[in-house]
Amino acid sequence: MQGHFRLTSGLHSAAYLQCALVLQYPGDAERLGGLLAEELRRMGGATVNVVASPALGGVIIGHEVARALGSRFVFTERDPTDRKMILRRGFQIAPGEIAVVVEDVITTGGSTQEVVEALRAAGAQVAAAGSLIDRSGGAAEVGAPRVALATLQVESYPPEFCPLCGQGIPVVKPGSRPA
Ligand SMILES: [Zn+2]
Repeated sequence: MQGHFRLTSGLHSAAYLQCALVLQYPGDAERLGGLLAEELRRMGGATVNVVASPALGGVIIGHEVARALGSRFVFTERDPTDRKMILRRGFQIAPGEIAVVVEDVITTGGSTQEVVEALRAAGAQVAAAGSLIDRSGGAAEVGAPRVALATLQVESYPPEFCPLCGQGIPVVKPGSRPA
């Protein structure tokens, strides 16, 4: 999508990768999940017990990756009070379980890194992280080995240096989280 967007990371950009537009087709979602699962299996080595994704963006693709890996799937949500990424809904991670983290789009890697940390705090061994799209040009660090089906270099700016803000163009928050 082209325009003037405020990303989840807080950065502004003229382009937004809306994975929901491809994931609305279950056949495509399953195929992409299978491709990402192959990459993660290659990196993770051992059997993956659980795939975890940050809600809402990572849920559909994470579930498809889990289907392809034959593992179970859980998702993290933000605690409404302190905004920390946590497992809710009775999801349990057993100490020593091998986990991978799956996201739709990585920009700064912040959300993925929070899931990696939440899993480690629960005793999981995080083997790898994967996303459909990496829009950081490969630069994002998430605290685990990382793979993406497509790596793009898409310009994004802190709001105070955003040329679109400079032109007075209204900014849109396209994702699932409130601005
Ligand atoms: Zn802007």
